[in-house]
Amino acid sequence: MLEVTDLVVNYGEAAAVRGVSMTVAEGSTVSLIGSNGAGKTTLVKALMGLQPVTSGSIQVADQDITHRPAADRPDLGVAVVPEGRRLFPAMTVRDNLLIGLHHPAARGRARDPLGFVFDLFPVLAKRQRQQAGTMSGGEQQMVALGRALISRPRLLILDEPSLGLAPVIVDQVFEIIGRIAGEGVTVLLAEQNMQRALELSDHGYVIADGQVVMAAPASELLVSDGVRHAYLGEP
Ligand code: ATP
Repeated sequence: MLEVTDLVVNYGEAAAVRGVSMTVAEGSTVSLIGSNGAGKTTLVKALMGLQPVTSGSIQVADQDITHRPAADRPDLGVAVVPEGRRLFPAMTVRDNLLIGLHHPAARGRARDPLGFVFDLFPVLAKRQRQQAGTMSGGEQQMVALGRALISRPRLLILDEPSLGLAPVIVDQVFEIIGRIAGEGVTVLLAEQNMQRALELSDHGYVIADGQVVMAAPASELLVSDGVRHAYLGEP
């Protein structure tokens, strides 16, 4: 579904992603784990066409999209839940969700789109006329997830969906991501919360300083001394 080859992304002279290659097979869930500043968000932005690629390539479903504009992503069935959610706080929950259908390709795929989202997140049905900015952090994350899912993407990319949320809400968010993956959606999950991300993934890539330092089945990374050393500070 997604093939990234030797990807380099620079900010001016500085390289933030330095030759990353990764594969996300159709129907799988893959975690991209790394600490603050490792380059996860830059990689996600490049995948979404929001940050120019210096070299290397990005393919989605065998189409080269490396230099295609962000607005082409819905056509390919790609949706993102960006870091920090990026809702329109003064707009209602309902209108924030409907933004996910702005692109005609997204509208074409979705039957009873709001019904689908409200089935996944019943709380949003009750709150649909509330201003998104007045919702709790967890509820806002549900809106961001709903906005991405309303277009029924084939590939869902999530950038740190657990960031800043209370532990009980983090549990809910990961449970929902697991359910979405269970329905056959391909998921790429960029996370600092390594344990939780790997628990629901098939495969994981560990990224540090813009490079992949480990790539393995998630079950192996979960028990790997190298990962525990790098991320949990264990000897
Ligand atoms: P975080 O969890 O903090 O979001 P991350 O793994 O997503 O971390 P990035 O945000 O991709 O990491 O940052 C990778 C590197 O690129 C960092 O060194 C960061 O300082 C740098 N960087 C990020 N955005 C910019 C920018 N707009 N201009 C210059 N450098 C940037």
